[in-house]
Amino acid sequence: MKKLVLLLAIILSSCVTNNPISFKVIDTDFSKGRVSYEQNITLKDLEKFHGHLCDGLVVGALAMQQGMKILYPNQAIDRTNLRIVSKPSPCLTDVAIYITGGRYQFQTFYVEPTIPGVYVVQRIDTKKTVSISIKKDVIPREIDSLGNLAVQQKLSSCELKHLKKLEDDFITFLLKSNPEPLFTVTNIEDFDWQPNSKNDYLKTDILNKNLPKCNN
Ligand SMILES: [Zn+2]
Repeated sequence: MKKLVLLLAIILSSCVTNNPISFKVIDTDFSKGRVSYEQNITLKDLEKFHGHLCDGLVVGALAMQQGMKILYPNQAIDRTNLRIVSKPSPCLTDVAIYITGGRYQFQTFYVEPTIPGVYVVQRIDTKKTVSISIKKDVIPREIDSLGNLAVQQKLSSCELKHLKKLEDDFITFLLKSNPEPLFTVTNIEDFDWQPNSKNDYLKTDILNKNLPKCNN
């Protein structure tokens, strides 16, 4: 009986996350080094860098997974050879710079709200460029509408708690799903790299930081 319970627990826990999300990346091996140092980046690493786990972080990571299948199929992602344009979300931008190595100060990263999809990523050597979008209706409408109200600081503590639960459930759904049908990856020919220096976007994930705790 004990064995059966253990087996069931193992099966159930393996169902929770079908997509472990990990990226093999390659970088230079020291401050003046050659491209040769390989590492693995997981969702946990992204969470540490970003500050928390959220649906935007998972959407960004899954979007990046789909794009990298085209730019670096079955090989390590070369973080010395990519540049990226991202939508302004604090979660999406953190995934963008962490996984690609793109940085604002080296003109390998900029933010542009009007790009198609969430990211436009380009290999610097071949100029192969893809835009990655999340399909319409994948993100639950209530998350969008409550998220907008949260940004306007119009939600109470307990409404925020409800929004967090919705986001957590959405994360579970995303990690259990096959991500491929949820995203569209489109080749862009002759992409016009037009870095801008706009840097006054709202950091939406800290706006409610001083709200009291919901005790319900
Ligand atoms: Zn976030």
